[in-house]
Amino acid sequence: MERTIVHMDLDSFFVSVERLLRPVLNGKPVIIGGTSDRGVVASCSYEARQFGVSSAMPMKMARLLCPDAIVVRGDMELYSRHSDIVTQIIAEKAPLYEKASIDEHYLDITGLDRFFGSLKWTHELRQNIIKNTGLPISFGLSVNKTVSKIATGEAKPNGELEVPQGLVNPFLDPLSIKKIPMIGDKTFRLLRSMGIGTIYTLRNIPPEMMEKVLGQNGIVIWNKANGIDNTPVQAYWEQKSISAERTFDKDTTDVQGMHSLLVHMMEKLAYELRQQRKLASCITVKIRYSNFDTHTLQKRIPYTSFDHQLIPVAHELFNRLYQRRMLIRLLGVRLTHLVQGTQQLNMFEDTPEMTSLYLAMDRLRNRYGRKSIQRAAGLVRVKEEINGANDKEQDSNQKKQNPKEQDPMNNRQEEKSKDKGQSFPKDRLYNWRGGH
Ligand SMILES: [Mg+2]
Repeated sequence: MERTIVHMDLDSFFVSVERLLRPVLNGKPVIIGGTSDRGVVASCSYEARQFGVSSAMPMKMARLLCPDAIVVRGDMELYSRHSDIVTQIIAEKAPLYEKASIDEHYLDITGLDRFFGSLKWTHELRQNIIKNTGLPISFGLSVNKTVSKIATGEAKPNGELEVPQGLVNPFLDPLSIKKIPMIGDKTFRLLRSMGIGTIYTLRNIPPEMMEKVLGQNGIVIWNKANGIDNTPVQAYWEQKSISAERTFDKDTTDVQGMHSLLVHMMEKLAYELRQQRKLASCITVKIRYSNFDTHTLQKRIPYTSFDHQLIPVAHELFNRLYQRRMLIRLLGVRLTHLVQGTQQLNMFEDTPEMTSLYLAMDRLRNRYGRKSIQRAAGLVRVKEEINGANDKEQDSNQKKQNPKEQDPMNNRQEEKSKDKGQSFPKDRLYNWRGGH
C-alpha cells in the first residue's frame, strides 16, 4: 500500500533558538559550539556556511574561515525545551509520529488525504509550528522516510517539497549519492572511486555488485537509490527505552548500597546509550517494596548520554521516592524519550579533560568489556537483611519469568491498578504531552 510520510526538520535549530532570544544575531554568521579553540562546531547559520564553516569542524578552523562569526556557547537544556514544544504541537495533530532526533520528526499521515489534502494538512502544521515557536522548519512529503528526508534537504531553508510516487525517480536521479542519508564520507569516497556520482548511476548498478562491495548495506543503499524504503514510522511511545533493575534475594533498607547500585546501573545504561548513538531525556526510578507496592518517579532532563548528568538525577529521584525504613525488594532505573544523536563530548563545553576521559573509558570498555572500568561509587554492595545474596541483574530486554515482576511501565494497566506512585507533573522540567 502506498504510504504518505512526512519528514520535518528544524532549520539550523540551535542557531534559530539563539536568535529567538537574541534577535541581534539575525542575518549574521553565527557558530554554536565550545568557545575555546579546542571546541568543535555543533551548528552554524547559513551565513557562516557560505564561508565554508560546517558542523563537526574544529572551532579554530571555523574562526579562520569566518573571522566575523559570532560564536555562541551551546545550551542543551534550552534546545531540549524548544525541541519538546515542537514535538507537542506535532503530537496534538499527527496520527502517528516519530521523534528521530532533537530537530527531526517523521509523520505517517497515510489515509489522511481522503479527508484533507496531505500537502495542505502538512503545510498548515508547519505554519502552526512557525507561528507558535518562531522557529523556521522545512518538510519533505513523499512515499517513505528516505525520499521524504532527501526532499526536506532540497526544500531547505524554510521550505516544503512534495514528491509524489510517480516523480520519485526523476526527483532522485540528478542528485549526488551524498544526499542518501546512509552514505557517509567513507562510502561516498569508495563509490566515487568506482565512478558513481549521481543517484541515477547508482540505481543502474547491478545490486549484486553493490552487495559485493558493501555487503548487506550495499543492498539497502541500492534500494534507497531506487526510492525503496519500507522502514515504518515508529510511534514515539514505541521507541525503545533502556533500563536496568535488580531484585534482591532478601529485602533491604541499605540506602548507601542503593545509591551505589544506582551509580552502577546508570553507568551501564549511559555507556549503552553512547554505543547506540542515542540521547535520553527522561529518567525513571522504580522502587518495589517487600509488600509489592511499586512506586515510580520520573523527571525530564536535557538530552544527554553522559553518566555525570544522569547519576545525580537518579539519586535525587530515589531520595524523593524512598520511604525510610521500608524494606525494598527491587530497584530499577529506566531511560526513555530516546532520540538518535551523539552528543559530541566537547560540543558545548571547554572541557577537553572530561572529553578524553569519556573517550578513554569507552575505548577500554569496547576492548576489555563493560566492567573493565567502573566508578568506585558504584561498587558498594547492597547489604541485604539476611546473608546469602546472589541477586542477579536483569536486563529490561530479557523476558521475565514471573508476570508479577513485569515492569509497570511496559504495562499501563498494571501501573494504574498497582502503582501507588504519583506521576508528579511538577517534577518535570516542562509539561510533556508527546506520546502519552
Ligand atoms: Mg535540522
